[in-house]
Amino acid sequence: MTDAPSYGFDTLQIHAGARPDPATGARQVPIYQTTAYVFRDAEHAAALFNLQEVGYIYSRLTNPTVAALQERVATLEGGAGAVCCSSGHAAQIMALFPIMAPGRNIVVSTRLYGGSITQFSQTIKRFGWSAKFVDFDDTDAVAAAIDDDTRAVFCESIANPGGYITDLDAIAAVADQAGLPLIVDNTSATPYLCRPIEHGATLVVHSMTKYLTGNGTVTGGVVVDSGNFDWSASDKFPSLSAPEPAYHGLKFHETFGPLAFTFHGIAIGLRDLGMTLNPQAAHYTLMGIETLSLRMQRHTENAMRVASWLENHPAVELVTYAGLPSSPYNDRVARICPNGAGGLFTVALKGGYDSCVKFVDSLQIFSHVANLGDTRSLVIHSASTTHRQLTEEQQIAAGAAPNVVRISIGIEDADDLIADLDQALNQA
Ligand SMILES: *Cc1c(COP(=O)(O)O)cnc(C)c1O
Repeated sequence: MTDAPSYGFDTLQIHAGARPDPATGARQVPIYQTTAYVFRDAEHAAALFNLQEVGYIYSRLTNPTVAALQERVATLEGGAGAVCCSSGHAAQIMALFPIMAPGRNIVVSTRLYGGSITQFSQTIKRFGWSAKFVDFDDTDAVAAAIDDDTRAVFCESIANPGGYITDLDAIAAVADQAGLPLIVDNTSATPYLCRPIEHGATLVVHSMTKYLTGNGTVTGGVVVDSGNFDWSASDKFPSLSAPEPAYHGLKFHETFGPLAFTFHGIAIGLRDLGMTLNPQAAHYTLMGIETLSLRMQRHTENAMRVASWLENHPAVELVTYAGLPSSPYNDRVARICPNGAGGLFTVALKGGYDSCVKFVDSLQIFSHVANLGDTRSLVIHSASTTHRQLTEEQQIAAGAAPNVVRISIGIEDADDLIADLDQALNQA
C-alpha cells in the first residue's frame, strides 16, 4: 500500500506498512530475526552511514519488521513518521530527548499513569530535566506554568487510571501560543478512539504493551511525529535545527523536513540510547493491531454496560467512566474520542481501602495485575501498587485514592463480568 491515507481505519490497521515480502512474496510481515544487513558495496555502506540513503544497517537502528509497525502506527495516527522503542516509558524518554537539555522543563498534567508521574517527578532530574505538574482543566494555570526554559507540554488523551479526558484542543492552543510542542500519551485511547494530531498534538507516544498489542504479550512503545512542528522557528530546539556534530554538521530539520524528528529518533536516539524494539515483539504488535478497531468497540461497549451497572450498586461511591452521563467529562467524548470513551475507569468503594483489597481478592474472571488494555478483564488497587510511590495528595490528584480500584474491561461476555463483580462486591 503506497497511497494509504485514502483508505478507512479498518483497512489501514491490516494493510498499512505491510507489502508482500519482496524476497519471498510472503503475505504476512516476516519476522526479520537478523542483527545486520549486507551492504551492496562500500559506497552503499558509506551512503547509509551518512544518512544520504535510507536502508538497513544494524537492528539497533532499523529492522524491516519494526519498520512495518512504525509505518502502520504512523498511518493510523495520521503522523509523518514513527520510531518504535522497547517500552512505553522508553518512548517517553525518546520523545523528550531531542527537545530537552539540562536546565529545561516540561509542563505535565497531574493526571498521568503512576509510572509516568514517577519518571517525570524523580528520574528525569538525573538528566538535569524537570517537570511542573498542573491541573490541565485549568488552561490558565498551564499557560502560567510555561517559562523560558519550558520545551514541551505533556498529557494523556484518556488519562490512566481515571478515564479522565483531556481537552486536547484547548491545551494545544496554549502550547501553540508558547511555540512549544504538545506531546500526547494516547495509550488508553488508541488511534481508533482518539487521534491527537487532529487536535493539535505535535508528538504522540504509546505504550504498545496495552491496547495496540492487546493481549498482554509484549512490552513496547512508539513515538509518532505529526511532522507539523517548525523546529527552526526559534532557537529552542538546537538538536533539530542546528548543525549536528555527530553527523558532520547536518541539520536535521533543514535536511529531512517533516521527517526530522523521526530521523533524529533513529539516527541519534536509537543509535545512542539503544531502547530498541525487537522484531519478535513488533510481530506480535502488528498481529494485535489487525483487530484493534473490533477490540476497541467491544472494550467500549462492555465498559459502558459494566460502568452503568456499577454506578447503581449500593457498595459503590463513584464510577469515573467518561462514557457515563454523570461524568463531568462526558461532553468531551464526542469531540475528543468520537468512537467512545474506552475500556478503562476507576470505581471508588464506600468501604474504603479494606473493602478494595477484599474486592480485588474475591474476583474470579478479573485478574489482579499491573497491566491494562488486555482482552482479559483486569483490576488493580492503584494506591497499594502502581501509585504506591506517590504521596496521598498525588494519588488523589492522579485519580488513585486509597478507596479506588482501577478496572480495565476486557472483551469477554459483559454478563459474566457483571456477575463476577457482583459476587466480589457482596463479599467486600
Ligand atoms: C503502561 C503505560 C505507560 C508505560 O508503558 P510501558 O510499556 O509499561 O513502559 C505509559 N503511559 C501509560 C498511559 C500507560 O498505561
